[in-house]
Amino acid sequence: MAQEINEDISEVILSEDDIKGIVSRLGAEISRDYAGKNPLIVAVLRGAFVFTADLLRAITVPCEVDFMAVSSYGDGVKSSGVVRILKDLSTKIEGRDIIIAEDILDSGLTLSYLVDMLRGRGPRSVKVCAFSLKDIPNHTPAIKPDYLGTHVPDEFIVGYGLDYAEHYRNLPYVGILKPEVYSR
Ligand code: 5GP
Ligand code: MG
Ligand code: MG
Repeated sequence: MAQEINEDISEVILSEDDIKGIVSRLGAEISRDYAGKNPLIVAVLRGAFVFTADLLRAITVPCEVDFMAVSSYGDGVKSSGVVRILKDLSTKIEGRDIIIAEDILDSGLTLSYLVDMLRGRGPRSVKVCAFSLKDIPNHTPAIKPDYLGTHVPDEFIVGYGLDYAEHYRNLPYVGILKPEVYSR
């Protein structure tokens, strides 16, 4: 059955089926690499909560989940480079294997900041699992994900947890937001 597309979306770039395929592959990779371990999946709120919920169910080894909230974008569409911790972990991570789950890697500034901060707490390992990576011409992100779902074009995208001014997180697909929506 064809999905009704939100009128503010110019193009769907990842369908529900595309997303399912991506997440089950990531879950299989992580399950293989973490056999016999008990990784702590750290979801970066709010964007990564939808992805993390699916990823957890695609992981077949014992694992735990915790949440961090950071702010890098506010309600806008450009990275500010400034990362604020709004909510910290509830779990002690010393000696733990950490997998940070992120929705999208753009400049990578948010994640590289988070990785450094968590490394300072003495975990055994810190890896990054990013659902998507924005392909920006002539630009290398500040950090390379250990697990990557998919590349996305250099457009402002929403859905599957990704918002614009807190909207569109509920779309079950990922689409390009019409520029007139954020320039008005
Ligand atoms: P970075 O620090 O890598 O530039 O930005 C990372 C964060 O910016 C992401 O976790 C996400 O919250 C937000 N972001 C970056 N690109 C996009 C995008 O195309 N759409 C949306 N909705 N958020 C984005
Ligand atoms: Mg994010
Ligand atoms: Mg956002």
